[in-house]
Amino acid sequence: MIIWNQGEFYPGLGKKIVELNNVVDPGPSDSLIKIDGFTVSPGKDGHFVEQTDGNPYSEDELDAIHTYATTRMVINLFGNLIEKQIQWSWWKDGEGDPLLIKIRSNDIHARYIKDQKCIELDNYGPQDSLIHNCRCVDLIAHETAHAILDRLMPHLNAGNVETKGIGEAFCDLAAIFMVLSQKDLCAYAIEETKGDLMQSSILSLYGVGHGDEQNQFKEIRNAINNTTYKSDSWSPYDYSQVLIGMLYEILIALFEENRASTKNDVENLYQSGQHWMQAIVHTFRHCPVPNTDIADYGQQLIQFFDKGSLDIKNLLAKRNIL
Ligand SMILES: [Zn+2]
Repeated sequence: MIIWNQGEFYPGLGKKIVELNNVVDPGPSDSLIKIDGFTVSPGKDGHFVEQTDGNPYSEDELDAIHTYATTRMVINLFGNLIEKQIQWSWWKDGEGDPLLIKIRSNDIHARYIKDQKCIELDNYGPQDSLIHNCRCVDLIAHETAHAILDRLMPHLNAGNVETKGIGEAFCDLAAIFMVLSQKDLCAYAIEETKGDLMQSSILSLYGVGHGDEQNQFKEIRNAINNTTYKSDSWSPYDYSQVLIGMLYEILIALFEENRASTKNDVENLYQSGQHWMQAIVHTFRHCPVPNTDIADYGQQLIQFFDKGSLDIKNLLAKRNIL
């Protein structure tokens, strides 16, 4: 299938072809995903890369193909991490309606709407230079993670502001997971940062090009931040930034630690990333319900990294979490 490699605002990356290990029906669709209003058929050689006659798919059809494939990659990634088939919160006995993905015009939203079993990814801006939320892998990863969370840890979508902030962190982390799980993007991050991961890159920047209409390359959020914990924040994103900033520092610490044994930075980032993703999924799944606060989550991290040499307590203290 043909997809945007991260999004339309990374001109050096463009599009690429990915192979999925699941059966894909026309739409594209499968039991978990339906792209609203599209019935794109497989093209040449049964793949969704070009039409049967060798001509390219239309822009709209490519959007549907990209949106389907990227959503599926997020689902497959989390399915592997939790070693379980992903199901939606409305499913019973292993079946139910697919998640409907609406690619709509003239609004700015990217959101998961549980009651409608759907994700909306809107196009916005002037007609001659529309911004397409559906082309942004980070936004798809974030919204798909909300849908996954709704089945696995629903309290993180619906608790108090701080608990919701932890849920928002999980969804932004899904975007970082997507980069870490693809070696070509790990290589891109290493090239961008010259191996210094404290430099902003494809890895740390979330939603590049979608942050500010005045600035074409502005991101929505950056995992490299100095946000510290305050108990009275009113926005879930204040809490999510604290958590993401701290977890990103753990990723760098793992990467630096592994440098002694793995000389190749790309391979090291990929391997460190695997360990980091498993740590995050494990610690999230062991948080107390219904309301989790960031200190609870910090305790899970301390326990998980108990036998390693990372000073997790120091990283937490720096953020005012302990
Ligand atoms: Zn969100």
